[in-house]
Amino acid sequence: MISERAFEKMASKLLQLKSKACEASKFVSKHGTTYYKQLLEKNKHYIQEPATVEKCNELSKQLLYTRLASIPGRTELFWKEVDHVKGLWKNRADLKVEDAGIAALFGLECFAWYCAVKDQKLRLQHSGTLSPSFFGISLLLSVLECVLGRETAITMAKNEANASDFSKGLLQSEELYKYILETSVYPREPEALKELRSVTHNHPMANMATAPDAGQLMEMLLNLVNARKTIEVGVFTGYSLLLTALTLPEDGKVIAIDVNRSSYEIGLPVIKKAGVEDKIDFRESEALPVLDELLNHEENEGGFDFAFVDADKVSYWNYHERLVRLIKVGGIIVYDNTLWGGSVAEPDSSTPEGKREGKKAILELNKKLSADKRVQISQVALGDGITICRRLC
Ligand code: SAH
Ligand code: CA
Repeated sequence: MISERAFEKMASKLLQLKSKACEASKFVSKHGTTYYKQLLEKNKHYIQEPATVEKCNELSKQLLYTRLASIPGRTELFWKEVDHVKGLWKNRADLKVEDAGIAALFGLECFAWYCAVKDQKLRLQHSGTLSPSFFGISLLLSVLECVLGRETAITMAKNEANASDFSKGLLQSEELYKYILETSVYPREPEALKELRSVTHNHPMANMATAPDAGQLMEMLLNLVNARKTIEVGVFTGYSLLLTALTLPEDGKVIAIDVNRSSYEIGLPVIKKAGVEDKIDFRESEALPVLDELLNHEENEGGFDFAFVDADKVSYWNYHERLVRLIKVGGIIVYDNTLWGGSVAEPDSSTPEGKREGKKAILELNKKLSADKRVQISQVALGDGITICRRLC
């Protein structure tokens, strides 16, 4: 069915793909520390020894050509496979490397078919072996495969960062961060918070969650001001919120504001299980109107002991103007991400485009906070940088 020439063509396409695979393996050896090791350990029964490049080439040929040879006998299955790939694409946030590999192989198969039959289109159309719609789907899937490939790299990078929890933050080395977490933080971290970290783990934005070491400092600050009434701006899945709720006394209350309730709902079962849901007053809203509405009631002026701000950076200063009135004298406001990945001290040209707006806002905030006589401040190089403000007057 497929001519010699067509097979040659496929082979040349495979060669091109090989150089891409080479780039991918460089990526894995550079970044794939913990995640890579865990993945291999879990799937070691699949690994064929000796695990050499030659063996891989032989196995990939076996797999690809066996699959190609099986196409004529699985027209029905083909459509199922299309649906399967479509399903993977829909749930790409949870994409596993294995699934992505299989989807990529399928895309590659379609691509090979497409290249193989391109020159013989007429003949094939007449023979009815391949319909034009099959053609279209093949092409579409080839494109999908390219995109899937990129998504996979992103997912892998994210999983790796989350799996280890040791992206070094602003510290000198991952080892140092690991040392801090393992020595001083994890042994004292409540089970409920560990569980919350674990349910957040696979979220594509998991790195937004408050770092456990920053959480530990926050817990101490809450204790130091005997916090009973607090405000949280930016909840996400609720790590800092649960930490606050666990630290507050029985009659304590936290007003928690986030524009998006759905992330909060990921953490909610853990919060309920920990028995602290009653201390939380969750408001699904933009934060500013909620703060303004609180200020409409005189009794709220100076009515709160503590606030944690971890939402849209461009609004931080607006939040600050409200919070310095809502927090009592001697109370504390903590701002997260005030070193913005260290970019505050770098030229704009080294900051990725998408991070510049936030950087500009953080730079302005830091300058204004420094000049703000209403508060005492401390810029702490913890997590992504946090600034602690204590209201003076
Ligand atoms: N403190 C959280 C992380 C917050 S991430 C934790 O420990 O996990 C930032 C959150 O801010 C996101 O959930 C986002 O939905 C929310 N957010 C962004 N802009 C906002 C706004 N204008 N008002 C309220 N919430 C906002
Ligand atoms: Ca943050």
